[in-house]
Amino acid sequence: MNIREFAFNLQKLYEEMGQTFSAHQAKLGLSCPSGCGQCCLNPDVDASLMEMIPLALKIYDEGKLEEWLERLESNTISHCLIYQDQGGRKGFCGSYQERPSLCRMFGVSGYLDKNEKVTLSICKLLKQDFPEETQKALTQNDSATPILRDWSLHLSTLHPDLIHKRMPINEALKEALEKIALYAKYHEI
Ligand code: SF4
Ligand code: SF4
Repeated sequence: MNIREFAFNLQKLYEEMGQTFSAHQAKLGLSCPSGCGQCCLNPDVDASLMEMIPLALKIYDEGKLEEWLERLESNTISHCLIYQDQGGRKGFCGSYQERPSLCRMFGVSGYLDKNEKVTLSICKLLKQDFPEETQKALTQNDSATPILRDWSLHLSTLHPDLIHKRMPINEALKEALEKIALYAKYHEI
């Protein structure tokens, strides 16, 4: 596997995924308020090692691989270390272009219930901020709703480990950086 080619293809899929989910949020009137980053403080944000390769490559290209490995090894913070906290609900992603899949699908997404019926999952802050739009979205049956499972399947066509072996996001970044360090020993990057 050529790591640059893999990252390029994943980045293309990430962009398509991000645009699809944000366009659907906008269509429902449930776009995230500007400056909100509350979900990034959730310690349960997870990713797979392979999902973090674009970000790990960016860090490598900036010459900060060792610095980041040290930060992650001595880290005691449970939320994502990429997050730029501005206090309260305010904050932003320090690497928005390279963020992994969950970060692109969290606000509003479709999942299939036990009867295979499409059901909407909506961030609780969006529900609080937009109660009427939430009610409307929950009662309408929109066949264009992007489904988490479908996008996970798209990801798995690039590499099966993109959806398996999930772990806390900081751990996934650390493992991705270690993979890049090892790869760089034997290949041109
Ligand atoms: S990668 Fe970015 S969007 Fe995802 S949790 Fe971290 S800071 Fe938030
Ligand atoms: S998904 Fe929710 S917590 Fe995250 S940015 Fe949007 S409104 Fe804020």
